[in-house]
Amino acid sequence: MSHQPAVATKMPEEMDKPLISLHLVDSDSSLAKVPDEAPKVGILGSGDFARSLATRLVGSGFKVVVGSRNPKRTAGLFPSAAQVTFQEEAVSSPEVIFVAVFREHYSSLCSLSDQLAGKILVDVSNPTEQEHLQHRESNAEYLASLFPTCTVVKAFNVISAWTLQAGPRDGNRQVPICGDQPEARRAVSEMALAMGFMPVDMGSLASAREVEAMPLRLLPAWKVPTLLALGLFVCFYAYNFVRDVLQPYVQESQNKFFKLPVSVVNTTLPCVAYVLLSLVYLPGVLAAALQLRRGTKYQRFPDWLDHWLQHRKQIGLLSFFCAALHALYSFCLPLRRAHRYDLVNLAVKQVLANKSHLWVEEEVWRMEIYLSLGVLALGTLSLLAVTSLPSIANSLNWREFSFVQSSLGFVALVLSTLHTLTYGWTRAFEESRYKFYLPPTFTLTLLVPCVVILAKALFLLPCISRRLARIRRGWERDGTIKFTLPTDHALAEKTSHV
Ligand code: NAP
Repeated sequence: MSHQPAVATKMPEEMDKPLISLHLVDSDSSLAKVPDEAPKVGILGSGDFARSLATRLVGSGFKVVVGSRNPKRTAGLFPSAAQVTFQEEAVSSPEVIFVAVFREHYSSLCSLSDQLAGKILVDVSNPTEQEHLQHRESNAEYLASLFPTCTVVKAFNVISAWTLQAGPRDGNRQVPICGDQPEARRAVSEMALAMGFMPVDMGSLASAREVEAMPLRLLPAWKVPTLLALGLFVCFYAYNFVRDVLQPYVQESQNKFFKLPVSVVNTTLPCVAYVLLSLVYLPGVLAAALQLRRGTKYQRFPDWLDHWLQHRKQIGLLSFFCAALHALYSFCLPLRRAHRYDLVNLAVKQVLANKSHLWVEEEVWRMEIYLSLGVLALGTLSLLAVTSLPSIANSLNWREFSFVQSSLGFVALVLSTLHTLTYGWTRAFEESRYKFYLPPTFTLTLLVPCVVILAKALFLLPCISRRLARIRRGWERDGTIKFTLPTDHALAEKTSHV
């Protein structure tokens, strides 16, 4: 008979350690005294960042001493395990001191130069956008120039006071660290690790400006795609407004302005989603055409094409966003009052015309197919969006990723095209649809996607696809690298694609 183990299976060492060790937490949930042998760390400043940092350091097993200009006033705001004292006393014993004050107050610390000599100063400051443009030297380099006998390390500026307090599991875990002395960088990296963060070595202090610019960035990769999506939205919205609202008002004296918030938005969103999706695949087509024309892949693409290729993921995600909104708006259409009145009016008209059974077989089929294709296109787009998440993308190998993004993406484009065509049906050929002589919106949206689909079909022709595959494996028309493709078709297909 097997015995029950006396103790449960031991957890791995890392998981075993609580983020805030229990013996450090008092019954009033403030942090209690830490053991004397714990490494001592100093903090200059008693603001938001200093308080959160002190809490995290104490919770990670460090002894903390905070230097304030007015320790009496601020002591109550810190965990009881942290010692809060005057600046001079706080910097006397620790070897590592965090400077949690703003750049403009660095010079007020110069009176501490003698006590700070030979110590490591950790600069955690973040400049504002204006300060970043105004000063050519980073805050950390400025601090180093004020304290030439100290070693300045830039770290923790990308971590907010909130993340420090809540613990790394609730926020950004990476901490870029730079400084001129590898030993000092290592010491600060070890502290970051002990606090549960992931140190990223950024090299010398010359990188501090780059590290300080990190928190100032506002979704840089999304700027152009978002502007593109907004631009398309405005253009299509204006076009639909002219056709669906202005034309009935001017030519038929009908007030259709109620369509502005829902109807016109809902006819605009699919146009934007569809055109954006085609713009994900157009740069790949242009790149392939360029490679075919040049007969080599060893020539740089023009900058605009390079940027376009790099922004395909964001453009695709915005396309998915617009398509998802279109689906939501479509669900809401029957909830509108206008829709109910239209239905009732239609029913009354039927009764007055003495028609009992309204059923147009062609319309029924068109709508069934149209809806089904729309749902399929949205489903495929959702797959693309999910696989572009880093955690999912990292679990796929290159072939799986390119299959989903390239092949399934193209399927989504074809499904969207069929969805648009079934929406249009015969409308493109009806004169009444050309309001103000403007063609129906869906005919305009078909332009780019159809070019992409036709070009992709052209690239599938054996003579072109073989040449493209050879170029992508390094063959050059006028160059020295010449070889034939493997006869094994499957191997030839493994050639990477743009
Ligand atoms: P804060 O709340 O305003 O605290 C600044 C502290 O600086 C004051 O509490 C003050 O403490 C001290 N100080 C020292 N000399 C000073 C002087 N001459 N005049 C005024 N104050 C002086 O600011 P914070 O939010 O903690 O930010 C501190 C630093 O951390 C900044 O460089 C900031 O960029 C950086 N940071 C903050 C965060 C955040 O989320 N808050 C995130 C990343 C980085 P005493 O009065 O006790 O001396």
